[in-house]
Amino acid sequence: MQIVRTLAHLRQVLDDLNSKGASLGFVPTMGALHAGHLALVEEARAQTGVVICSIFVNPLQFNRAEDLARYPRHEEEDLALLKPAGVDLVFMPEVGDLLGGGWEPPMYDLGGLDTVLEGAWRPGHFQGVAQVVGRLLDLIPCTDLYMGLKDYQQCLVVQRLLDLRPGQQPVLHRRPTVRDAMGLALSSRNLLLSAEDLERARGIARTWRWMKEALAPSLSGAASPMGAASTMGAASPMGVVPLSPSALIEGGLHRLEQEGLRPEYLSLVRDGTLDPWSGPADYGLPRALFAGWLGSVRLIDNELLAP
Ligand code: AMP
Repeated sequence: MQIVRTLAHLRQVLDDLNSKGASLGFVPTMGALHAGHLALVEEARAQTGVVICSIFVNPLQFNRAEDLARYPRHEEEDLALLKPAGVDLVFMPEVGDLLGGGWEPPMYDLGGLDTVLEGAWRPGHFQGVAQVVGRLLDLIPCTDLYMGLKDYQQCLVVQRLLDLRPGQQPVLHRRPTVRDAMGLALSSRNLLLSAEDLERARGIARTWRWMKEALAPSLSGAASPMGAASTMGAASPMGVVPLSPSALIEGGLHRLEQEGLRPEYLSLVRDGTLDPWSGPADYGLPRALFAGWLGSVRLIDNELLAP
């Protein structure tokens, strides 16, 4: 496994790799690696001839300086995880090298995907993501790009970035979220949580379970033809009253608060989009998106609420 820290060295190593003509899988990360990242690497390893992983804490995507300052950095442990995973090259550039040298971050038209939900709460975040992913893709001519659905909105933004870029672009592979045994989505930011807050964070998964159960009768076709109602799954003489999106969100927010979280948002979108999910009569399935706080740590998660 080669460890490359400068752009000059990267160019030189890529020349060697390119001459082998293999497909190239790329897994961009911000380090503090866990099994979620390794699942991306594993898929890249299984599907492509050469696997590159980058570790770069991208300052352009942080809208709060203190968040950037305390983002976990575990270089040695990360390298120890990547080596047995079969990564060929780890790219870990310095900020000044990757983003300096006269490089000007382009402003992308992300079609509004960057200004709602996460984008509304973290202004500029997705421009920063797109700029650095674009920069990395300029340097690393991969055939396959691997990202996690843990960052669902980011996957949509990066697909948009690929659509905007000229020429042949890599295929974006979106992997399901890796969770611990209690359903907590693995995240580098979990390292910043106390034991009590980790337990509270598992309340997100409990809320997903509750939302799925509340919605199941409506989605399984047992719903009455009465249209959306605000009663949650209540039995009626005609069967089960379909759950309205607003009732489901209200119930979910209540549970998250009871679990000790401070939600910023809980939203339902039609899966594959950021369009609001309009209820069981909608042709798509609902995906729930959450962001919220435990103490000074901000967590995000999302889940498809399919039966
Ligand atoms: P990050 O280091 O947090 O920027 O994440 C790097 C990549 O790993 C992104 O594509 C994330 O969506 C993905 N990722 C992070 N956590 C998980 C997880 N629990 N399961 C699957 N993928 C993840």
